Amino acid sequence: MATACSIRVRGVVQGVGFRPFVYRLAQANALTGWVLNGDQGVEIHLEGAEKDLAAFVREMQTKPPAAAELNEVEVGPAPCEGLSEFTIRESERRDRPTVCVSPDLPICEECLAELFDPSDRRCGYPYINCTNCGPRYSVILALPYDRPNTTMRQWPLDDYCSAEYHDPANRRFHAQPVACPECGPLYSLHEEGATVDDGKGAIDKAAQLLREGKVVAIKGLGGYHLACDARNPESMADLRERKFRKEKPFALMAKDLETARNLVHLSSDTEALITSIPRPIVLAPRKQELTGVAPGNDELGVMLPYTPLHHLLFASGAPDVLVMTSANRSSEPIAYEDDDALARLSGIADAFLMGERSVARRVDDSVARVGAFGPMILRRARGYAPGAVAMLPAKRPILALGADLKNSITLVVDGQAFVSQHIGDLDHYPAFRAFEETVADLISMYDVRWDDLLVAHDCHPQYASTTHAFGLPVVKRYAVQHHRAHVASVLAERGEWEETVVGVSLDGTGYGDDGTIWGGEIFVGSVERGFERVAHLRQAALAGGDAAAQHPVQAAVGFLSQIDGLPDLAAAPFHFGLRYRGALRLIERDVRVFSTTSIGRFFDAAAALLGFVRQTTFEGQAAIWVEQLARSSPPLDAYPFPFDGHQLDFRPLLGAMIRDRIRGRSTSEIARAFQLGIARGLCSAIKIICEERGLKTVVLSGGVLQNGLLLEDLKPLLGAAKLRTWINHAVPPNDGGISLGQAALAAFQEGRINGASYA
Ligand code: ZN
Ligand code: FE
Repeated sequence: MATACSIRVRGVVQGVGFRPFVYRLAQANALTGWVLNGDQGVEIHLEGAEKDLAAFVREMQTKPPAAAELNEVEVGPAPCEGLSEFTIRESERRDRPTVCVSPDLPICEECLAELFDPSDRRCGYPYINCTNCGPRYSVILALPYDRPNTTMRQWPLDDYCSAEYHDPANRRFHAQPVACPECGPLYSLHEEGATVDDGKGAIDKAAQLLREGKVVAIKGLGGYHLACDARNPESMADLRERKFRKEKPFALMAKDLETARNLVHLSSDTEALITSIPRPIVLAPRKQELTGVAPGNDELGVMLPYTPLHHLLFASGAPDVLVMTSANRSSEPIAYEDDDALARLSGIADAFLMGERSVARRVDDSVARVGAFGPMILRRARGYAPGAVAMLPAKRPILALGADLKNSITLVVDGQAFVSQHIGDLDHYPAFRAFEETVADLISMYDVRWDDLLVAHDCHPQYASTTHAFGLPVVKRYAVQHHRAHVASVLAERGEWEETVVGVSLDGTGYGDDGTIWGGEIFVGSVERGFERVAHLRQAALAGGDAAAQHPVQAAVGFLSQIDGLPDLAAAPFHFGLRYRGALRLIERDVRVFSTTSIGRFFDAAAALLGFVRQTTFEGQAAIWVEQLARSSPPLDAYPFPFDGHQLDFRPLLGAMIRDRIRGRSTSEIARAFQLGIARGLCSAIKIICEERGLKTVVLSGGVLQNGLLLEDLKPLLGAAKLRTWINHAVPPNDGGISLGQAALAAFQEGRINGASYA
């Protein structure tokens, strides 16, 4: 006697080989019925013996395809239709889609084997893929995920590919981007506006140019890379000069794991991260010095090949370590359209390795690192985006626009929070355009109506994202304070809405409730009830406001002017120079002077005292410099950083640094005592607040947490105080995570406004 059931699966279940998996599983359990891609995930109807149905459900949940993520499985009874076979039905589109779009996937082992098998039709074919691997988000034009809705729609399948595509037993069954050299897109090589080679010849020639030290623009999954030989200092110098990129580290691609192991120290956790499905760029301590790759930096950012093309390039004799940096001029978004790439990169690239498949949207490489509290994402893009990172109790769709630096946006549909890829710094116009495109893209992909939408944005009145929010035709807008959003982003990842925590935001810049620049803030509260600011870094004057972020000396002045008996900082050993006097004059006259509690600027002040007195050339440079200086000394002592119940006082700390500098103590020892002082001071403040209020959980977020040493110092201190500590894992602790925190706080604000209960 057959029974029937219906199953709805939500999560990352489209484009990851889920339907063929279901098909095979149904066959194996002698079940009939059907499966289809619906708007909200995968829908399954099954008929057969009770025990076989149970076995199916069990196995589906325990052994799904590697790239699938099952967030919700709903099993219910269904009328038995007496079906005689199991089929895959056409996708249905009924209402607003809320299915998760799969991020792009790295080439799988089976495709890799075929890629180098001379007897295989797709041997050497750079677009080989299957249901377990290949492009997803970067080729999807609309939902549901079917070939006519991808950038592969212009290449009809030939008989060979079509047979595989329609064979439920085949690995390429319904693999939407499937193609072969006979019917699919190809790569070609271009120099000086002319096509010089195509097919395999193009890849061989590109590898040869790279060996010769040339810079080659290579079209990848989410846009173009600029590649060159990382072991060739002249190529490196050329690339830096042409890209107008003075010192910011370049990302590397190592030929294989063995090569990566020789480049950087890989712990087992770091190795797990670098080989994980998103294949991020992983930051790790370097073993080898590569001139010009990451000047003055003890870490290298390394990733492994993730597309068939990368593997083919290395197999064709490309240098075993390549610089693989986003193809753009400094601070522009990555180029992803061919004409745009040719126009913008001429003068940077000597040649272009161009593929015919178009990129649906730009997606940069992601950046991650393993720290004291586990893996941390620093830039969330390819391989992660646009995955849902949280379920919010929001009945209305929410669009959260993030912050202006390291912008990302979050769209909440049916409670699922989809976080976009990293977009960039919106004060650059091309990045602002990319922001507008990404907003429009996500809104149309999920078919959200503007008049149904709540928008969350930063409180900063001058942010481009804030201005944009006010131009949108939405029902409601909700301004979320920057540092509360940082703290809420951690809680949103974990779905902790009611837990009252001590939330610590250690950050560079954010607009505070009082209109001053915040960045060293301690809150108490929960996402549900909101966060009260209970303590902060002692206020300092900031000459020139946010502009001081590029000049450690300028940032230092306001902190140092509060120190009694300050020596002449223009003289040795400080050499602060002209900018110091200029900034001092601004503060004396109170012209363009802002008030700040920013820990990020406090790190800049420390950097200036330790000798970093020039202008920075990329964001966070001075703080990274301090951390690396500190790492070269063991922890000997900690400078005092006292807490009076409301403020952390930086004056004793800076006073001690100045004394030790004049005494001639080594700068690395001073940097180490500074970092440990910050950690101890923060921890004692957190302990006092927790004891006063009977709290046990601490949340840490903000861009300053990219300082790995600070986390290493904080972990044992907080552990000894028996405090549970949460940090970001799914979104970055920097402003790339702001939009998620905004969405979470807006969801609950919305609940309060409407008096709705989300219990
Ligand atoms: Zn594959
Ligand atoms: Fe921030």
